[in-house]
Amino acid sequence: MRLQNKVALITGAGSGIGRETALLFAEEGAAIVAADINDAGGLETVQMITQQGGRATYVHADVSQAQDCQQMVRHAEEAFGQLHVLFNNAGIMHNQDDDAINTAENIWDLTLAINAKGVFLGCKYGIPALRRAGGGSIINTASFVALMGAATPQLAYTASKGAVLAMTRELAVIHARENIRVNALCPGPLRTELLMNFLDTEAKKQRRLVHIPMGRFGEAKEMAKAALYLASDESSFMTGTEFVVDGGITAAYVTPE
Ligand code: NAD
Repeated sequence: MRLQNKVALITGAGSGIGRETALLFAEEGAAIVAADINDAGGLETVQMITQQGGRATYVHADVSQAQDCQQMVRHAEEAFGQLHVLFNNAGIMHNQDDDAINTAENIWDLTLAINAKGVFLGCKYGIPALRRAGGGSIINTASFVALMGAATPQLAYTASKGAVLAMTRELAVIHARENIRVNALCPGPLRTELLMNFLDTEAKKQRRLVHIPMGRFGEAKEMAKAALYLASDESSFMTGTEFVVDGGITAAYVTPE
């Protein structure tokens, strides 16, 4: 087991990448603290883990709220004693997110509050807990759009993921000598609710698919496997990286016919 005796706190654990990661980490021996604003989804994740014989608990937490982030970390330590893995994964892609001209300020503010400030707040309260545990691994979900520009406008989302990547590098450097590693996971386009709701017509899906050399969307389970590597000691000499898992999209100039 690759996460035996570890405790992992996962935000956005009620769906998509967060849920699949919670299930996989639990299979690998970790106790899971599932955080989300979607109580039904989060509780279902916990139920799925406990039915498999794993250990898990749910905490309601809006990652854009400092009090909630403080409370989710406290909940983790109270439930399982220590915290070793912090997966700042919760995020939104708003369907009114657009280009500079057409993105409303409130959509910008909301997106940045959850996607970027949420990672900051997770670290603000999570890092002291990792210190108390003697070190650990932080994984921040960024995106391939932090590395490439897209003609399908989603400016607030793109800016938020750029912030996640930049924060990850600095956090990694600051905490490198405390046995705390910080890496960003940069998924390509995935077949999860978040993107499928945004690309809500077949034409929009095809517009995105032509850019992916593998010719398909990725799966949340494939991100969970990447997160497992970053969480476990197998990646012990990795920190500050942008771990790209994208079906080849960032490597492509022209895709195969
Ligand atoms: P998802 O919509 O399936 O899951 C996101 C989860 O986050 C949901 O359970 C939702 O309730 C939760 N959430 C939303 N706002 C929250 C808040 N304020 N506080 C706590 N939880 C909140 O989406 P997903 O595809 O699994 O996305 C997970 C992460 O991966 C996000 O950060 C997303 O930006 C990123 N990502 C997704 C893709 C993609 O194509 N799906 C690509 C790159 C990066």
